[in-house]
Amino acid sequence: MRTAIVWFRRDLRLADNPALRLAASLADAVVPVYIHAPEEEGAGAPGGASRWWLHHSLRSLATDLQRIGSPLTILRGPTLNSLQRLIDQTGSTAIYWNRVYEPAFIERDAKLKSHFREQGLEVQSGNASLLFEPWEVATGSGTPYRVFTPYWRQCQTRLGSVPKAAAPPKKLASPPNLPSGVALDDLALLPTRSWGDGLAAAFQVGEKAAHQALDRFVEDAIADYDTRRDFAAEPGTSRLSAHLHFGEISPRQAVEVAQSAALHPQRSGASLGIETFIKEIVWREFAHHLLFHYPQTVSEPLDVRFNALPWQVDDAGLKAWCRGLTGIPIVDAGMRQLYQTGWMHNRVRMIVASLLCKNLGIHWREGAAWFHDTLVDADLAANTFGWQWAAGCGADAAPYYRIFNPTLQAERFDPKRLYIRQWLPELAALPDAYIHQPVTAPLSVLRAAGVTLGKNYPSPVVDLKATRDRALAAYAHMRAASSNAPA
Ligand SMILES: Cc1cc2nc3c(=O)[nH]c(=O)nc-3n(C[C@H](O)[C@H](O)[C@H](O)COP(=O)(O)OP(=O)(O)OC[C@H]3O[C@@H](n4cnc5c(N)ncnc54)[C@H](O)[C@@H]3O)c2cc1C
Repeated sequence: MRTAIVWFRRDLRLADNPALRLAASLADAVVPVYIHAPEEEGAGAPGGASRWWLHHSLRSLATDLQRIGSPLTILRGPTLNSLQRLIDQTGSTAIYWNRVYEPAFIERDAKLKSHFREQGLEVQSGNASLLFEPWEVATGSGTPYRVFTPYWRQCQTRLGSVPKAAAPPKKLASPPNLPSGVALDDLALLPTRSWGDGLAAAFQVGEKAAHQALDRFVEDAIADYDTRRDFAAEPGTSRLSAHLHFGEISPRQAVEVAQSAALHPQRSGASLGIETFIKEIVWREFAHHLLFHYPQTVSEPLDVRFNALPWQVDDAGLKAWCRGLTGIPIVDAGMRQLYQTGWMHNRVRMIVASLLCKNLGIHWREGAAWFHDTLVDADLAANTFGWQWAAGCGADAAPYYRIFNPTLQAERFDPKRLYIRQWLPELAALPDAYIHQPVTAPLSVLRAAGVTLGKNYPSPVVDLKATRDRALAAYAHMRAASSNAPA
């Protein structure tokens, strides 16, 4: 009897899973395993909110695997030892997994591959998480892209060659001698009850929930995605990011379903919305492309001139930012949405990141670390890319002189003040004219709305104009210093 191990990592689904499909087609018996080894995952090891998601995703995967006849075994790392024991216990002759393109995974997985191949095992890895391998898309001279638009153009020409998403296996057989492994609860992935409750109220986890989220988005929002996706209070985006990160759904599936929406007679005018959505999926690809080719960007700026920028050490400012107590309503609303639900609207992510890096002058790494711990979709590639973009030091970065004015952004992207009122109830009674900038309201207006600045809502922790000027001066200095530097 030929037995194969399928090692699940960021591919927590049955459908369109190349490793599982290979095992189902080549082996008589399959051993699905998840190995908890965060110490081997480097900067991509899950933070608090991601651990919550992981717990529920593993539970969902275990149920789905059980249903088709092959229970999930959960083990603890070190991975090498756990896989070795599992091979010995089950008599497996093959191991299949899907690639994770983060630096720590690449290094560890390469070692495991050669180790087990040297033992005579068949070891194969597949691509479950990207449309294109990061090395497949390259400039004419064979170098990686650093600018999105030409990358996108090339991806567009390749979309037709992306393999069709594959169906899930209907039935799997287990070997007779399966080890029992550890219980999911023993991994202690869940946070304190109150935090977990907020995340649970915001998200359903698992492969089925991922498809429901995609179907809902295609039904209700994709047609207007190009025009509505920036409005913070609207349910105008897919909220697929955590499902994609944990591989509960593949980008191939997301793109296929989005493309098929164009065929629906009621969505005949949806082509721009569909194309914009696919472009966002390709932004995700671009982030992975960059992390693969520039792994140092997890901690270092892609644009090395930014090493000379004088970052501020401001513990009080950082704490106020993390807690949503900066006194700048759109920023505080975003940071509260993040903490209470594990997710923040993309437009608001850009606004809060700009305030941290440019007005508070705090290093983007601090913001990235807080996001990594509190986002359910925390993803090393997308988070690193997003933060370097906001700080102006990455690929396709917002130019150094683009410093978001949070009040103008709020006026534009929360015109009905719904987002602010939802996340900052203490300001809800303020009239529209002042709610984005309560510091400009007359005392009588504040009093009538029950707002006392400095007491139940903070005064702004930064002077936006003065800190904007400081940031511009620092960037100008950095640019001048780098153009004078010896070649
Ligand atoms: C500072 C900062 C940090 C970020 N950190 C993360 C992160 O850790 N994980 C993460 O998945 N996204 C991150 N993003 C990107 C983006 O904000 C989220 O992907 C998006 O808000 C998720 O919501 P959605 O699924 O409804 O997105 P939709 O608008 O429905 O987009 C569809 C999918 O496209 C991908 N996508 C969209 N925008 C981007 C982008 N700018 N970069 C990469 N992928 C994108 C996501 O997978 C998303 O699920 C960050 C952005 C910024 C500015």
